[in-house]
Amino acid sequence: MNRLYHKAAFLCSAPKFHQSPPDEGVEVAFAGRSNAGKSSALNRITGQKSLARTSKTPGRTQQLVFFQLDEKRRLVDLPGYGYAKAPLAERKRWAQAIEDYFKERQSLKGVFLMMDIRHPLTEFDQQMIEWCESCHLPLHIVLTKADKLKRGAAKNTLLSVERKLQEMTVELSVQLFSVPAKIGVDQAHQALDQWLEVTDH
Ligand code: GDP
Repeated sequence: MNRLYHKAAFLCSAPKFHQSPPDEGVEVAFAGRSNAGKSSALNRITGQKSLARTSKTPGRTQQLVFFQLDEKRRLVDLPGYGYAKAPLAERKRWAQAIEDYFKERQSLKGVFLMMDIRHPLTEFDQQMIEWCESCHLPLHIVLTKADKLKRGAAKNTLLSVERKLQEMTVELSVQLFSVPAKIGVDQAHQALDQWLEVTDH
């Protein structure tokens, strides 16, 4: 387990983009439809049992939640919900917040997009992918709950997601992840290391 990610600590939450902490240093955002396994993955990646519970505190679920790693590096938990079911006004507010953040945030180096391996590329995911592409943000797709499929089926889903997105002009990578089966933590750290310019541990 990587010590830098172990250090993650709640910094602040921002209901609106302009309430974000100073746009300095580097950060990576975590996105995912609700129930995609984003909190579990964040907790596993940071080696902390309940870090992402902070983001699920009532009242914070629609906010950007910032976690500090060290003086110049952050992870950001983006709000997510059952996209199709959310009321239109809520969807619009959400879309505005994320779009503003993607477009304006200089320190944002890339987006981790969590997808339940059994339901990849939902409408929510397609929207996030489109925004990453239009904002030239590198994208790292994490197929969560890989333990729910047999090894061969999981690998096939990975290849099929890669194939479907091969036309994309943005830098893109895809990986398998599972909390109980302990799959994918090192790979996630490597992707983060690259974007957060971590060279030593
Ligand atoms: P979030 O809404 O995206 O933050 O999703 P959560 O992390 O809360 O996870 C949603 C549900 O999926 C919970 O019941 C988790 O226990 C379950 N879950 C998350 N990751 C995994 C995993 O790797 N394997 C399995 N089998 N279940 C998982």
